[in-house]
Amino acid sequence: MEAFWICKVASDLEARSERPIVFSTAKTPSGPIHIGFGRELVYCDVLSKMLEDRGCETEWIFFVDDFDSLKSFPPNVPEDFKAHKEYLGRPMWMVPCPYGCCESWAQHYARELIETFPSFGFNPKIFWSHEIYMKPEMKELIRKAIIERDKIRSIMVEVVAPTLSGEKLELFMKEFEDWYPCLVVCENCERLMTTRVKGYNVEDDTLSYQCKACSQSGEVKLSRWPVKLRWRIDWPAKWALFKVSCEPAGKDHCVKGGAYDTGERIVAEVFGWKPPYRIPYEWILLGAKAMKTHKGISFTFAEWLKVAPPEIYRYMVLREDPKKHISFAPERIPQLIDEFERTEKIYFKVEEPSSQVEISLAANIYPFCFPAKPPTRLPARLPYRFAVILSQLKSLLGEEGVKKKALTVLARLAGREPDNEEISEALRRLEMAEYWVAHYADERFKINISDRVPEEVKQSLSDRIKDALKELIRMLEEKEWNEEQLQYEIFELGKRFNIGTKIFEAVYKIFLGKNFGPRLAPFLLSLDREFVVKRLKEAVGVT
Ligand SMILES: [Zn+2]
Ligand SMILES: [Zn+2]
Repeated sequence: MEAFWICKVASDLEARSERPIVFSTAKTPSGPIHIGFGRELVYCDVLSKMLEDRGCETEWIFFVDDFDSLKSFPPNVPEDFKAHKEYLGRPMWMVPCPYGCCESWAQHYARELIETFPSFGFNPKIFWSHEIYMKPEMKELIRKAIIERDKIRSIMVEVVAPTLSGEKLELFMKEFEDWYPCLVVCENCERLMTTRVKGYNVEDDTLSYQCKACSQSGEVKLSRWPVKLRWRIDWPAKWALFKVSCEPAGKDHCVKGGAYDTGERIVAEVFGWKPPYRIPYEWILLGAKAMKTHKGISFTFAEWLKVAPPEIYRYMVLREDPKKHISFAPERIPQLIDEFERTEKIYFKVEEPSSQVEISLAANIYPFCFPAKPPTRLPARLPYRFAVILSQLKSLLGEEGVKKKALTVLARLAGREPDNEEISEALRRLEMAEYWVAHYADERFKINISDRVPEEVKQSLSDRIKDALKELIRMLEEKEWNEEQLQYEIFELGKRFNIGTKIFEAVYKIFLGKNFGPRLAPFLLSLDREFVVKRLKEAVGVT
């Protein structure tokens, strides 16, 4: 059997000579950070664990790229904040928090992400770029880049120019006419993006610069003033500084002539470190759209935790090849959870795999889906779809009634007493399902049980349907059913009475006033048997 993609990557990394194996990830906190970025977080976490299991020492670092300039305000930022045009072009650690609750813009959005790390099981060492940039070792790399700027320039031209043509190539070449690999924060307007370095004096370690935005020109001491390497040089400098072995990166950085290509040559030829192992990855699409922070198309990590457990996210990321995009639709979360639980049951050998892929997912991926240690026995789980129905029955069963029902079903499905963790997980699921219904569910999943059977529904039932329903009443009174049996028997009833799926429609109408709804048997079984029977009797006119 061919090795699963991430196991192969682990072997490649194990073969590298350096120890520890250092993983690096980085994010510019330009706005709410969406789950597309989590692909690289999951990769680094899982690869570290796989390598540790093989006896390799590892380290994982995460840079908050807060020294990057703020280029635009994402749409959801308060309007009065957006009026501050002077913030645009400033490094993000020098822009105030748009909500006034943190020290800076960068801190606000980075914190939102970092606060979710423990829930997802991510535990990297966190570094803030602007602090790294004040360290003497980083200052030394900046000096090196300045002194070797001709070499860097020719690498850039050799790698990038062949991928450009026409006006783009002209602009690119013009940019390099009097070019320095770094930018200086303007002493007057605090912008970074608009400054241009004019010269470097080696004797007294000063940079002279001009600012296009405010026409300021001046001189600053490199050792004391915030100076940043341009992005394509910043990346390899950090690889060298932290002796990085592997950094996954979004596909935009990995194209021919992209930042990874130039970074690999600069790190080797200028900074003297070997290029890290690349894992290029595709986007996670929200439905059919690419998520874009600056356009407000986003689904954040915090939002994920409101609707689904973290292991489902890790599963979604790990099972797909990094080169393929993942199309994520929040309305399909119940299906995603079903798929995960199918893998879980195959892992614990209570269900039979039907393909090599299923065998491989259970063997290679399942144990790494969990933020902490994987379970040692099949967990008792409240099916999410069932939680979706139950969470909508508060007005009928009461808050406590819903919880009681959930725990009864949990124990019945598991065939044993659930432990405390399983119980609290089941109750958390009820909350997630409730949130999911309110924000993402389509009509089919929404339940609103009317107080009485509407007159027009009663009148619409044919005699044959009534006979079938009477039979259903008899069956329900006779014994306790489980979901699968009952679902099957209702189908059989439809066949036997020659009404096909009309029996389903009739029951939905009787309870929900519409002719569709969630899967019928789990729905009926989530209600009190007495209530179901009474309701059906009312509909067919028997007492
Ligand atoms: Zn804040
Ligand atoms: Zn300025």
